[in-house]
Amino acid sequence: MSPTPAPTPAPASAPTPGALAGRTALVTGGASGIGRAIAEAYVREGAAVVVADLDASRAAEAAAGTGAAGHVTVDVGDPGSVAEAVSAAMDRLGRIDVLVNSAGILTEAPLVEMDPRVWDRTIAVDLTGVFLCCRHVVPHMVERRWGRVINIASQLGIKGGRSLSHYAAAKAGVIGLTKSLALEVAEHNVLVNAIAPGPVETPMVAGITDAWKTAKRAELPLGRFGRPEEIAPTAVLLATDPGGNLYVGQTLGPNSGDVMP
Ligand code: NAD
Repeated sequence: MSPTPAPTPAPASAPTPGALAGRTALVTGGASGIGRAIAEAYVREGAAVVVADLDASRAAEAAAGTGAAGHVTVDVGDPGSVAEAVSAAMDRLGRIDVLVNSAGILTEAPLVEMDPRVWDRTIAVDLTGVFLCCRHVVPHMVERRWGRVINIASQLGIKGGRSLSHYAAAKAGVIGLTKSLALEVAEHNVLVNAIAPGPVETPMVAGITDAWKTAKRAELPLGRFGRPEEIAPTAVLLATDPGGNLYVGQTLGPNSGDVMP
């Protein structure tokens, strides 16, 4: 009798199946910064991704650059635009398993001098935009009994920030929305979490004053701003079965100086 051949060991470089193989994802704000890094990581992990952004040309470039399945133009602060974009993404992907709400804006203004239109637009994009995208996507997830929602909040929504009351209020709202929606839909296997990064080197922070950046760096354990690709693995984890299940309704804070739950 010939000996049973030993199983051939897999070569060290053999690709492992992606953590998101077979999944579909819609990433708002996917044309830039954190959203783009998440779109890229999701594609790398095997997901079919649609990039949604206000900036049509950068969305097209990001979709091509990341290997996403497509892109849609959206203003997340506009209910009609969100309805159209979600419908177009559903047409492209067949369904949306994972929704990442990363679209956002940030400007600096002391509250006592703030133009109410600046307040309104910040709340519309940074908070109502998350509501609208969840409102249009989550019912489909509930129907299929599988879904993951990952909202990009901010440490400023927990700690507040000088001249950032509008942004901090919107991000605190995102954290409250996340915890509340998690309670509403977890029983349908739709799991909702938020990531609340500390400062991350993206176009969003490029315009902030140097004094603020220097003070912020001194507070951070690494002594530097985060990079978008350092946030993306948390978004991958939260889109998977074990990761999402572990952290339902939580807010994770990479590069914040806080201990993650
Ligand atoms: P970014 O400016 O690089 O990306 C934001 C993207 O959102 C852009 O592509 C922009 O075109 C898009 N966008 C803006 N308004 C939109 C709208 N109305 N509809 C659709 N898309 C719109 O910024 P970023 O740093 O990658 O920010 C991503 C998310 O992370 C935001 O929600 C931001 O508040 C949050 N965040 C950023 C930091 C940071 O330090 N960079 C820290 C914590 C949280």
